[in-house]
Amino acid sequence: MGLIVQKYGGTSVGTTERIAQVAQRVAGYQARGHQVVVVVSAMSGETNRLVAMGRELGGDRPSAREMDVLTSSGEQVTVALLSIALLELGLTAKSYLADQIRFRTDSAHGRARIEQIEVEKLRQDIDQGVIPVVAGFQGVNDQGDITTLGRGGSDTSAVALAAALSADECEICTDVEGVYTTDPRIVEGARRLSQITFEEMLELASLGSKVLHPRSVEFAGRYRVPLRVMSTFIPGPGTLITLESETMEQAEVSGIAHAVDEAKITVAGVPDVPGIASKILGPVGAKSIEVDMIVQNTGVDGMTDFTFTVKRQDYDTTLDLLKEVAADISARTVTGDNAIAKVSIVGVGMRSHAGVATKVFDRLATENINIQMISTSEIKISVVIAERYVELAVRALHDAFNLHQEPA
Ligand code: ADP
Ligand code: ASP
Ligand code: MG
Repeated sequence: MGLIVQKYGGTSVGTTERIAQVAQRVAGYQARGHQVVVVVSAMSGETNRLVAMGRELGGDRPSAREMDVLTSSGEQVTVALLSIALLELGLTAKSYLADQIRFRTDSAHGRARIEQIEVEKLRQDIDQGVIPVVAGFQGVNDQGDITTLGRGGSDTSAVALAAALSADECEICTDVEGVYTTDPRIVEGARRLSQITFEEMLELASLGSKVLHPRSVEFAGRYRVPLRVMSTFIPGPGTLITLESETMEQAEVSGIAHAVDEAKITVAGVPDVPGIASKILGPVGAKSIEVDMIVQNTGVDGMTDFTFTVKRQDYDTTLDLLKEVAADISARTVTGDNAIAKVSIVGVGMRSHAGVATKVFDRLATENINIQMISTSEIKISVVIAERYVELAVRALHDAFNLHQEPA
């Protein structure tokens, strides 16, 4: 019993039949004495469809303000449909768009950050047994303009609401039975984790595991929201995201993430002098392009090579930009590759296990996969490889670390 915020993702509300099933599921919780607040995504494929139409008319960079008005419409449809389905079951439900509950964000269209949520209306509803059905993904800025939180952002809407309402749990209901050791669509033997720490989940999400929006994990960690990922249609305990506990299984590696939306740029033959990194990356930063990994080779004869990665959507702009500044920095060549992928292994256990990196490198060598770049932190190792090897690499590493088996 208690207050639960449940978020249903795109596949879970992908058809009217599924929406009716979701309504049944919500009704079941209420019948068992829970108070429920529901957050929904757009029907699966809908946000992509809207984005494609916007780009068709607005080119590569359609107005960010109008794109938010456009893409947020997907969630308007599903809150209404789910409310209708709940009413049909005899429950009282009420849909809410972001501006109706002052779900306030900053004005960064397409990647807005939540600032404040007014929960009075929702509280009144909850107290009267009404089930609020809130549109995920969208917000409103202080001008009253619609904003969106970034792709996958409904998870963050739900966690933020759970925090604001001091809910007992936030359930992310989706098309898999929890958080797995890796994407179960790539590795058949991927294993559901019964729990995972916030720290590890944040790394996995940030490194490409689509199952949770990175900011939702950040939020849940900061406001201590008990967060659970579970299947909408298959009953089960799912995966609880927890604070690190003494008793938790400590495998050397907890999970593997991959990202294929990356690209790399190499500036070769630049003078190995102070300030060169800033001259190369300065113009990139000035365009608000996010740089991920950076590698500078040891200089030979006063010259060096410099390689970094950006999101694939920023590849063309970045390459053009560096070709422009190449003369300025006396670079010999500027080249790029946008068919790369990043594979990362994550685990708090790495702190206490040695030889994890070696195992990664050995196994990739055995598979004949060339590592182009490496980056490490206390609890993760990431490698950049050719995109065509990404599935092979994930499967091989999953096997190398025995992730299909429960740790002893
Ligand atoms: P929703 O529409 O419900 O938000 P998403 O498609 O955003 O669902 O996220 C769920 C998907 O995340 C799964 O279908 C799965 O393919 C993918 N995924 C990637 N990594 C993992 C992982 N480690 N565990 C579970 N699912 C993962
Ligand atoms: N509908 C949005 C998207 O597809 C938000 C979400 O599903 O979380 O990105
Ligand atoms: Mg999602």
